[in-house]
This record gives sequence, structure tokens and C-alpha cells, in this order.
Amino acid sequence: MKVPYFDLPAQIRALRPELDAAIARTLDACSFCLGPDVAEFERAFAAFTGAAHCIGYNSGTSALHVAMRLLNVGPGDEVITTPYTFVATSWAIAYVGARPVYVDIDEQSMNLDPGLVERAITPRTKVVMPVHLYGHPFAIDPLLAICRRHSLPLVEDAAQAHGARYRGRPVGTFGELAAYSFYPGKNLGACGEGGALVTNRADYAARARSLREHGSNVRYYHDEVGYNYRMEGIQGAVLGVKLRHLPAWNAARRRLALRYHELLAGTPLRLPRETPDAESVYHLYVVRHAARDRLREYLSGRGIGTALHYPVPLHLQKCFADLGYKPGNFPVAERAARECLSLPIYPELTDEQHAFVAAAIGEFTGW
Ligand SMILES: *Cc1c(COP(=O)(O)O)cnc(C)c1O
Repeated sequence: MKVPYFDLPAQIRALRPELDAAIARTLDACSFCLGPDVAEFERAFAAFTGAAHCIGYNSGTSALHVAMRLLNVGPGDEVITTPYTFVATSWAIAYVGARPVYVDIDEQSMNLDPGLVERAITPRTKVVMPVHLYGHPFAIDPLLAICRRHSLPLVEDAAQAHGARYRGRPVGTFGELAAYSFYPGKNLGACGEGGALVTNRADYAARARSLREHGSNVRYYHDEVGYNYRMEGIQGAVLGVKLRHLPAWNAARRRLALRYHELLAGTPLRLPRETPDAESVYHLYVVRHAARDRLREYLSGRGIGTALHYPVPLHLQKCFADLGYKPGNFPVAERAARECLSLPIYPELTDEQHAFVAAAIGEFTGW
């Protein structure tokens, strides 16, 4: 048996007639840059997250960048964020000339540790930007309490958490702004690149639309320096099709995760666990083991694909060397980077494949 780490071809095969029809309509209309398919998807995704406004972009990275612009973050400013995430969270900060200020993560959730945030706040702090890592909501209430005490806006990097819930409410509207990615491997993925911002604030939404279109509301009149960050029409059409399947896909991921919890409970692996307030959408199922590399090789030998999210924390990346961080600054994140292993989890994974993965892990750990 082969168990690929991710099986995008299986997902696309199942959707092919629906996708073909949606893309054909966009081709007929020649609405390639924004257009009605994107507008329709924005309405549907706003409703999905419970936000008043959704603005589509050409990537999640672009959406995060625009979030920093909307909050007027610039040179000399600091943004408190996690060192344990995909690099794009920090790109947004670097793009506007500000400084990422890292705070270590919580051992169990691997999300930003709210207990460490307050001492990182300085007069230069402009924003707090945690990540709902692996689809599991971060500690929203404790972080919002800190933000309110210091009059700081919270930005949610929700790129891995489409539909995740905190105290029963979808993530995305707890902060001032939330950014999503529709990279093909995400729980909701385009056939190409895509991203979005959601917000309840009409003023942010209006400026967010202008910034994605060259800083312009009226063609050839430019109010501020903007970008070409428009979502493509075809991606809007594709995302409109896929969004209708997302609730069932998220439910399938949750079912697989709960089953992994059961099958792996007796092994020495450290398993992900939901906090009482949170409902994860299991973008990734990341276990931890001290002999991670040997376990990974063993599974590979049995035809099982795995991945590492993430092998190097951001404070130790070459691109951020000038921030002056050193090994040992964030011990929890550094240990997570050494021990993490992402197991296959996607709606198309069969029960047989799933049981095969669990059995192979049992063999390796002698359980
Ligand atoms: C995927 C991702 C992004 C970037 O999204 P792109 O659409 O690839 O630009 C940002 N943050 C996190 C946490 C992500 O996982």
C-alpha cells in the first residue's frame, strides 16, 4: 500500500465536472482579473466566516502584507508574532520595514504562548499577529485581553484555519483583520494562488480593495502606493465550487484526527490535543517524537509520505539573521522543530490507508 502525504489529484478528479463547468463560464465571460466570480466568492466566504467583508487577493502573503498596511505598520514599528509558522507571517512585517518580535510557543498547542506576550510589548509595538497553527485556534481570549489592555490591534493569520472555531464561533472576526491563504494544499485551495482578508470594519475593507488595485478606486487616479494583488477570476470560480465542499472536508479531517488520537494513544508519540475552547480543522496532524528522523525514514520505507512543519523556526532563518536572535532564544519552538512530524490527513485518505499509517507507527515504536 502507498500512502502519499497529500493527494491533490484525488481531490481534483472528484471535482472535475464541477470545476470544468465553473472555469468554462469564466472563460466565456473573459472575467479574468477580479470580476463576478470573485465577488460572488467574497460574499460566500464572508458568510462562511461570519465577517461583514471579504476581500480576495492573489495570495495569502499579499493579504497579510495589506493587513500591515491597513494598520499603518512601518519602519521602526514592532509586531509581536510567533517564530513557529510558515515564513510568510513574518514576510508581511518585513515588507513594510517593521521588525518581527518573536515570542515562544506553548508546548501543547504550538501556538503563541499568551503568558509570554506582555513582557515583549514595548512603546514601538504596533500589532499582535499570532497564527492559528495547523488549523487549531490560538488562545484568543487571553490574547485579546492583553491587546485591549495595551490598545493594540490583533491580526489573525488564519491561513491554515478556514472554518476552525473558538467558543463555537468561526475564527476570522476575533481580531481587527484575518488573513487566509488558498494555496492548493490548504483546507480550501485554489487551482493556483489565492488569499483573502476578512474584517467587520467597512473602512478597512474599502482601503483593502483599493490597495489590491494599485491604490486606486477610480481608474488612473491613485490615492496611495498600492499593489497588483487582485484575485484571478478563474480562482474565484474554483474557490466558489470548493467552498461548498469545505464543511464536509473539514468534518472528514476531524474524523480522521479523532481516529488517529485513538489509534496512537498508547504510543510514545506526543499527539495534538484540542484545548477546551477550540475546534481545530486539522489542516495538519503533527505528532512529536524524539527520534523523529528515524521514524520518518521508517514510514518512508513502508511507502508512507510525511512532512515537516516546520524544521527551522523563523528566528534561526538566514533571512532574519539581522534581527540578532540566537539558538536557545525560543527553546519550545526549537524543540518542536526537531521533533515535529506531519502525518497524512486529508478527506480522500481511506480508512485502510489511515489504519496502515497507525500500524506502521506502532511497529516502529514497538507498541
Ligand atoms: C500558507 C500560509 C501563508 C501564505 O499563504 P500563501 O497563499 O502561500 O501566500 C501564510 N501564513 C501561513 C501560516 C500559511 O500557512
